[in-house]
Amino acid sequence: MAKAIQRYDNLAAARNFRPGKTERSTMDIPEIFGQNTLTLDKLEERLPKSAWKDLQKTIDEGQTLNIDVADAVALAMKDWATEKGATHYTHWFQPLTGSTAEKHDSFITPNQGGGAMAVFSGKDLIQGEPDASSFPSGGLRPTFEARGYTAWDPTSPAFIVENQKGTYLCIPTAFASWKGEALDHKTPLLRSNDALNKAAKEALKLFGVESKRVNSTVGCEQEYFLIDQEFVYRRPDILTSGRTLVGAKPPRGQELDDHYFGSIPERVLSFMLDAEKELYKLGVPVKTRHNEVAPSQYELAPIFELANVAADHQQLTMMVLKKVAKKYGLECLMHEKPFDGLNGSGKHLNWSLSTAEGDNLLEPGESPHENMKFLFFFTAVMLGVYRHQDLLRVSVAHAGNDHRLGANEAPPAIISSFIGDQLADIVEQLINGGAKSSKQGGLLGLGTPVLPNLPKHAGDRNRTSPFAFTGNKFEFRALGSNQSPSFPIVVLNTVIAEAIEDMTKDLKKAKKGDSIEKALASVLRARLNECKPGIFNGDGYSDDWQKEAKKRGLLNLKTTPEAIPYLTKKENVKLFKKYKVLNEKEMHSRKEIWTEQYITSRTIEVDTIESIAKTMIYPATVRYIGELAKAVEKADALGLDNSGSRNMLTKVNNELNKLGSALDNLADVQSKLKYKDTAEHAVKVESEVLPVMKDIRDSIDFLERYVADDYWPLPVYREMLFIK
Ligand code: ADP
Ligand code: MG
Repeated sequence: MAKAIQRYDNLAAARNFRPGKTERSTMDIPEIFGQNTLTLDKLEERLPKSAWKDLQKTIDEGQTLNIDVADAVALAMKDWATEKGATHYTHWFQPLTGSTAEKHDSFITPNQGGGAMAVFSGKDLIQGEPDASSFPSGGLRPTFEARGYTAWDPTSPAFIVENQKGTYLCIPTAFASWKGEALDHKTPLLRSNDALNKAAKEALKLFGVESKRVNSTVGCEQEYFLIDQEFVYRRPDILTSGRTLVGAKPPRGQELDDHYFGSIPERVLSFMLDAEKELYKLGVPVKTRHNEVAPSQYELAPIFELANVAADHQQLTMMVLKKVAKKYGLECLMHEKPFDGLNGSGKHLNWSLSTAEGDNLLEPGESPHENMKFLFFFTAVMLGVYRHQDLLRVSVAHAGNDHRLGANEAPPAIISSFIGDQLADIVEQLINGGAKSSKQGGLLGLGTPVLPNLPKHAGDRNRTSPFAFTGNKFEFRALGSNQSPSFPIVVLNTVIAEAIEDMTKDLKKAKKGDSIEKALASVLRARLNECKPGIFNGDGYSDDWQKEAKKRGLLNLKTTPEAIPYLTKKENVKLFKKYKVLNEKEMHSRKEIWTEQYITSRTIEVDTIESIAKTMIYPATVRYIGELAKAVEKADALGLDNSGSRNMLTKVNNELNKLGSALDNLADVQSKLKYKDTAEHAVKVESEVLPVMKDIRDSIDFLERYVADDYWPLPVYREMLFIK
């Protein structure tokens, strides 16, 4: 025990540490909001009128930006950035690693007089050419053609990143190969936005609505853990893999349910205020913060924004949380399952679609007419999700998330939609044809006998569904905390664009010779019938649902290696090609990259647990065994009863032997692993290597409960988890 306290003697100091502890800083949100972003308003102020008009056309109608306008924008951007102290700029992009990438260039160009001046041209702005050979391309780019291209995304504002020693300008950017193939997450997201826009605008016309543009809107709730940074350096597993690979359940976990929505610890609150301030400066509209279910787990949620801006802001949020945590001696863990036996962390992707005129198409409206529109789009979402369950599943498949999905805390791996009892009743009425007027109060009439009345607020809640309608948006809850929300957004946009387009065709046909109400009723009946197996309002965690889902023919892809191959199924390749979101090569490259990423993360974990077992746990246990053996001998010599120590010694020794065999077994399994391609490699890692890793962990976790605390070389859950 004495040693355990010694190990962490600076911990108390760390735990009391607050930067600027003495002065109380205040925050004027309207004053600082967006202070470090070049919003369109600010850009307009700085641009000549004609350039501004051209830029607007690029943004609204997707016209290419001509070089004169680009020069004007570049100049405005550079002036703004240098006023903010920036010396460098970077095209900030999102390679398929899932994080963000930047390569800084200084604005400085030497001038003739031997001095230097800040220069930034339109060419520099629109396109950069990073040496991209080390980013994953999944075979899209041979390494001898390492060039990649980056292209400015004018729809997402440029921003300044601050450091104590200076600042730099970040330009949100798409990243492609020299042949124009998307090597990033932004490009397909922008393309899928366009597909959705086109389909939805066309559909709206049938309801007499002319819209300039329809956008997907997104708000991501982010869960994370905070632990003292000191522990991270003492846990090789957290350092390499972001999660604890060993660690016995603490005597007190989340059983008391006392953490959820509890009052936020002082130091954590200071951290949150500081992080939020940074995010406000970057124009990220952070709204909500609270304690989550597990000890030391928290959540942050923003106000929703346009999908591509929200995706950029999500990345910034993760970056800022991690960065600011360190200032408080904390580490922000975003792994999906940092601690076994406690809830993991997810990211809820709230999704809707909204017209440029501000109409949320998933909002049940105030009038019968609006409600017809609502039913149309609501059905299209469920149809798209049902038809392409596999794509939704793939979009959340990665090593970390395998610990959550299907476990008893996160949604199951089966993709279904929750719509609540009132809407389920309406769906039933629509399917059965002819609406009875609804019995419940507070309903909005559709003014027609063919369509049922709608509840004003469908308020039901359900935490076990992966995809839930929550009043005026859908919430995709299966995302991992650490992942970029981009690909899940791409999938939603694309599958829903297709469903909208199909239903638009249906409706056009049915409308010939019939009223819109009757035509819509028949379209809804057919399409709801089609996607009905995908609607489930019950308990997604129950075993019954597993059986029921199977009966309904729903997919249940439990692991990443099982899910990923679905990405390149014929229908899926065809879908993405049709909507020009990803071509076949781009799809295959993604499959390859994500499979490799799975193998790599697992390999790192296996190597780490092996080295922890051999170089930390084994020696510590041997020392303790030596001590126990001495005690047994001494007691013997003194003629004392040594059964207690002997018993202990036997148990520890046996478990150490078990650990030894598990390690031998690991070497054996690894040397015999045979596979023909990456897909099979991933499957084998999952089915053959992971079980041995679990044996190793089980032995170590057993030993943690027996070996003397002062010999135990790793910080344990009880020490790491309770921040005061
Ligand atoms: P709830 O109580 O259903 O969780 P909130 O209003 O608190 O609803 O929203 C939760 C998250 O959903 C927030 O991040 C919010 O920005 C987002 N959200 C709300 N409306 C929309 C919408 N129309 N489109 C996308 N996201 C939305
Ligand atoms: Mg939550």
